[in-house]
Amino acid sequence: MTAEYLNLESQAVHAGREDLNALGVHALPLDLSTTNPLPDIDHGGDSYECMATGGHPLAAGGNVYARLWNPTVARFEVGLAVLERAEAAVAFASGMAAITAAILASKPAPGTLGSLPHIVAVRPLYGGTDHLLASGLLGVETTFCDEDGVAAAIRETTVLVILETPANPTLDLVDIRHVVAQSDGVPVLVDNTFATPVLQNPISLGAAMSLHSATKYIGGHGDAVGGIIACSEETAESLRRVRAITGAILHPHGAYLLHRGLATLPVRVRAQQDGAQRIAAWLVNHPAVEKVHFPGLHGDPKGLLQHQISGPGAMVSISLRGGFEAAKALTSGVRLFTHAVSLGGVDSLIQHPAALTHRPVAPEARPSANLVRLSIGLEAPADLMADLDQALTAATPENRELAAGAATR
Ligand code: PLP
Repeated sequence: MTAEYLNLESQAVHAGREDLNALGVHALPLDLSTTNPLPDIDHGGDSYECMATGGHPLAAGGNVYARLWNPTVARFEVGLAVLERAEAAVAFASGMAAITAAILASKPAPGTLGSLPHIVAVRPLYGGTDHLLASGLLGVETTFCDEDGVAAAIRETTVLVILETPANPTLDLVDIRHVVAQSDGVPVLVDNTFATPVLQNPISLGAAMSLHSATKYIGGHGDAVGGIIACSEETAESLRRVRAITGAILHPHGAYLLHRGLATLPVRVRAQQDGAQRIAAWLVNHPAVEKVHFPGLHGDPKGLLQHQISGPGAMVSISLRGGFEAAKALTSGVRLFTHAVSLGGVDSLIQHPAALTHRPVAPEARPSANLVRLSIGLEAPADLMADLDQALTAATPENRELAAGAATR
């Protein structure tokens, strides 16, 4: 493990690379082997047994098969665990695979509860997570609530509490300590995708698991899908067991790219956040904008920007005066932003949550039709504002009427 005295920026560059000097290489090695030569049946069999039940191959004495363990994936896991101030981390093929594994790992053996295992989920959540929980697909029952309703929602059969902060897509800040305090010892999983470990460490605040869609800021370049959960070594063992049984491990090529992304994560997140701060402040006064959703912009009564998250992040949502029609015009009118789902990369993206990322959410919990979400990248904020201005101006009700009139003349 990288020395604890190093600052986050140094850990981001070095963590998970401790064995490179001994290997005689400088860049991260990419090991694509699907299988490994075995010394003999006894050693191979012991390793297989250990890894298939969630153990660590170092304890088992050697690697056997890439669905169970891979050294490139393991280096990425060490890197993320260090940044999250956690004992361990377990990497998955996507953020949704990670959430699925967390739910499956939280379920006790069938029949031990007498009824379905129960989950408490604080809304809003990413649409895919909301959909997974509401579907009942994994054999769990879910109660959705707000952050003050957790204590009332907990039952004897509750096995997991899930929250997201900042939340997708409203950017509400949820008080992690407040939720942990209400959870009566039930493990709390925080989706830390929007904050990243640069701004927030949920485990230091009492959460049992800090989860990332690594597809987003961790990778940062829009070219690798992955998920990862930072947690205790004990929890990691049960997550690795589920991962081995269900075959949800991250591909080594993805792990290589995501680990490389960690090195620049602090620099990217802070630069993107600075741009988002300027753009959010400018959007407040734009005539086409009814409301800007950005942590801290409307005060911070709970003091979370001091005690929980060290900055507002780089995601901005806006409610438009002109409703859904304005949202359509804006997302089609941008030139520098790309109209696409996903977030957290070096280039700026724009999307309409109600139609896309949050489409499967129940109508009463779905984001409003005039809400548009922006992921601010590393472009010059002035260029991004100029792009938004031209598209927003064309999207105001007055200008759309003018344009429609001109088109029919
Ligand atoms: N969590 C959040 C907050 C997300 O935004 C997403 C995807 O957009 C996910 C989880 C799911 O991650 P993935 O797309 O990597 O499966």
